[in-house]
Amino acid sequence: MKKLIYLDNAATTQVSEEVLNAMLPFFRQTYSNPSAVYSFAGEGKKAVDDARKQAAELIGAKTEEIYFTGGGSESDNWALKATAEAYSSKGKHIITSKIEHHAILHTCEYLEKHGFEITYLDVDEEGKISLNELEAAIRPDTILISIMMANNEIGTIEPITEIGRIAHENDVLFHTDAVQAYGHIPINVDDMNIDMLSASGHKFNGPKGIGILYIRKGVKIRSFIHGGAQERNRRAGTSNVPGIVGFGKAAQIAVETMKDRTEKEINIRDHLIERVLTEIPYVRLNGHRTDRLPNNVNFCFRFIEGESLLILLDQLGVCASSGSACTSGALDPSHVLLAIGLPHEIAHGSLRITLSEETTLKDIDFVADELKNIVERLRHMSPLYEDFVKNQK
Ligand SMILES: *Cc1c(COP(=O)(O)O)cnc(C)c1O
Repeated sequence: MKKLIYLDNAATTQVSEEVLNAMLPFFRQTYSNPSAVYSFAGEGKKAVDDARKQAAELIGAKTEEIYFTGGGSESDNWALKATAEAYSSKGKHIITSKIEHHAILHTCEYLEKHGFEITYLDVDEEGKISLNELEAAIRPDTILISIMMANNEIGTIEPITEIGRIAHENDVLFHTDAVQAYGHIPINVDDMNIDMLSASGHKFNGPKGIGILYIRKGVKIRSFIHGGAQERNRRAGTSNVPGIVGFGKAAQIAVETMKDRTEKEINIRDHLIERVLTEIPYVRLNGHRTDRLPNNVNFCFRFIEGESLLILLDQLGVCASSGSACTSGALDPSHVLLAIGLPHEIAHGSLRITLSEETTLKDIDFVADELKNIVERLRHMSPLYEDFVKNQK
């Protein structure tokens, strides 16, 4: 079998061996319900407490401000729907951006159907919101600003500290979808003025189906999943102990390895960007050149369909993506690429490559070499490209 080169780490990551080993005892040995009173439940309860501490430490939060959920989408839904409900007597206006993940955008559409008004901020050509536009959008009835920390498609990191400062100066709550950022870049909820933050285990070598919502002490928020008294009465359901333990372990490892890991990823990322931009014509890098996730690369190749690139890369054992995993299969170009101002035909030629700690320079050189060949082959079959070349002469 040919070697698999997995470069779709923004879609999901491999559970690390240490994380898996930390989780295993909680399936068959210490499988008790941590809410039970007998001492057999004690070990599970302690493991959940420890994981909550590890999850909090990564973002400088207090342990009791971390709530475990069923993943990033649930955390986003909870933050938006339940604060909207809790603060609706103050106002019904929410500000977000056009490049959010669908877990935010579709929740906003739902809220619009229920009497809330949403402002969707534009972004510039590098994917950043404008702080002036944000300030101008705030009204007396604005209750919440939700802007993602880093974009899952183009990797751009938003000016979170300033957004949070503007929110607080105007007495508005600030939520950030940090699913792509948590474990990948330094975060401090106090320094960054964050009131609520979503993260997801499977985006940083933890398991799928487990996430957190950080809720600053004092923020009013309704319960989202009703039932038992788990998670301080705010999120019912028997605790996913193995998942929680895995999340905590992954968070602990992410803190310990962040500096070295991201330095290595940035080196490889920049090497790939450099090679593709210099060796392949009619390519653009999407997203901010430096304020971007350490592991994210996103290009548009003119005269080429992203889907064709993916199929040919797949034949070489390379897993990449042409946008987000959630929209692949849809024919519409990515809403993020349209929001940064790309015309449809260029947005269709996008390729996202997201690295992991395991990605080597050798893998990336292989991908760059093959991309050169593939792009050339595809362009030679493209009538658009032929016309373009003719007109150049
Ligand atoms: C993956 C992702 C989500 C959804 O997280 P799940 O745990 O898969 O539900 C939300 N927001 C962003 C930015 C993401 O990348």
